[in-house]
Amino acid sequence: MSASQRFHGPSDLHLHSVHSDGTDSAAGVLAAAQRHGVRTVALTDHDTTAGWAEAAEAAGSLGVTFFPGMELSAKHEWRSVHVLAYLFDPEDSMLRVLTDRIRASRWDRARLMADRIARDFDVTWDDILAQTSDGATVGRPHIADALVARGLVTDRTQAFADILSPAGEYYVALYAPDPVTAVRLITEAGGVAIVAHPAGRAGLLPMPIIEQMLDAGLAGFELGHRENLPAASGILRRLCRSRDLIVTGSSDYHGRGKPNQPGEYTTTDDMVARLIERGSGTAPIYA
Ligand code: AMP
Ligand code: FE
Ligand code: FE
Ligand code: ZN
Repeated sequence: MSASQRFHGPSDLHLHSVHSDGTDSAAGVLAAAQRHGVRTVALTDHDTTAGWAEAAEAAGSLGVTFFPGMELSAKHEWRSVHVLAYLFDPEDSMLRVLTDRIRASRWDRARLMADRIARDFDVTWDDILAQTSDGATVGRPHIADALVARGLVTDRTQAFADILSPAGEYYVALYAPDPVTAVRLITEAGGVAIVAHPAGRAGLLPMPIIEQMLDAGLAGFELGHRENLPAASGILRRLCRSRDLIVTGSSDYHGRGKPNQPGEYTTTDDMVARLIERGSGTAPIYA
């Protein structure tokens, strides 16, 4: 039986571990997904593949399929764009140089934000380090956790709405490639690029940028995601239908970091099969 003819579902293709801003270990993410009835689980930590080996190992004993992934940071003008990358070669040198640069920039940026915040709040760089696993892709969620630990906010949501807001005085931008470059490098690494939560509060990317991303190899959109809003989702759904693009649905689970639960959105078997047919850099690890 070929991979594309298998039954995969329920498939949840967007989850985070402590290798970025989730709160579960990589194996713990797969276990949480399995407890929620998910059979095919992608790990999509921000800008890193560091959790893949542990996840691949855990998949066998849990009886779930591990689907290798990553959520690559990109930026169009001021707005952050997240591009999900699946089944790419984790050794691809262009992608590695890029993700190394993004992760390094994230550390510089976290330090700058910490310095600014420390002027007004009783929180130190060590508090932030204490919330961050070794080698993790650091982000505002770790700063949020330090603020929670100090009792300065109640949870990540409150931290993001206030102290960590891009509109606030403490925010510092991180380095990230433009979304067309992000898609091109993922595709050249044998991967499949899907725009994460494409219809959220920031609104749709301009159509000319979406067209350039499609020309660079963009495969589709994550239309099933709790942050997508109906009007913009409808526009993208029509685009996906007319261009025969891949449509995914996923939870964006972050452990205790967000309310999102594994399996709250899923991807259909035929779409999982199309991702597998299109990806050439690595393969899923079947249970
Ligand atoms: P950063 O990439 O460091 O700018 O931080 C953005 C990350 O923070 C995203 O990947 C989200 O997962 C997370 N995030 C954004 N808003 C919230 C929120 N309100 N509550 C919890 N996590 C959030
Ligand atoms: Fe995140
Ligand atoms: Fe995201
Ligand atoms: Zn995510």
